[in-house]
Amino acid sequence: MPETTQKKKVLVVEDEKNIAMTLAYNLMKAGYAYDLAFDGEDGLKKALTGTFDLILLDLMLPKMDGFEVCRRVREKLATPIIIATARVEEVDKIMGLDIGADDYVTKPFSMNELLARIKANIRRSSNEVVPAASESGEATLTVRGLVIDTVKYQVTRDGTPIELTKKEYELLTFMAKNLGTVYSREQLLSEVWGYDGFFGDTSSVDVTVSRLRAKLEADAGKPEYLFTKRGMGYYIK
Ligand code: CA
Repeated sequence: MPETTQKKKVLVVEDEKNIAMTLAYNLMKAGYAYDLAFDGEDGLKKALTGTFDLILLDLMLPKMDGFEVCRRVREKLATPIIIATARVEEVDKIMGLDIGADDYVTKPFSMNELLARIKANIRRSSNEVVPAASESGEATLTVRGLVIDTVKYQVTRDGTPIELTKKEYELLTFMAKNLGTVYSREQLLSEVWGYDGFFGDTSSVDVTVSRLRAKLEADAGKPEYLFTKRGMGYYIK
């Protein structure tokens, strides 16, 4: 296979030109193809061509901010999006709002960490092409009133649709496939986020679990589906 067809393509949306150039250089060195956009509008336009394997998106951008770009890309495409932010206080907003970001890095980021995350997110999304549930022929996962349609990516509880972010959905589906199995944060980070451990932050798991629980459970304080095994991890039953 010619090397060019194997290269994954990353769109970098970053208005600070020296950062954009540094990213471009390191992406190239790591074997990626890339394109650059220096403002939100151009970033959105390029992203929507659908030719990228991943989008690295700065938050503070001229013309259109990263939140808006992310939201509008996600209306059309499932391309993995990593948001770069200089403000740690934005992290909750990034992961909390249903803007559809897959991951985030805080500036200043280490290039090695960023490249590891890019790799993990691309790997995860290419694994998703074949939904895991279809391998066993099961299109629907059911836990009493909770129904997960893995073909339509829809979740309902007692017939009422529940809107989940991509990560919440993936976490739920992963655990629901193995009811009663307790997964540690590290295992979930590796299986659901695709990190090999070193760069992952297990607090992402806790945050996503608590948001998932808030949407899933009638009373998040008395879960009926998503349980914590103290000191060990999480499980669904
Ligand atoms: Ca910026």
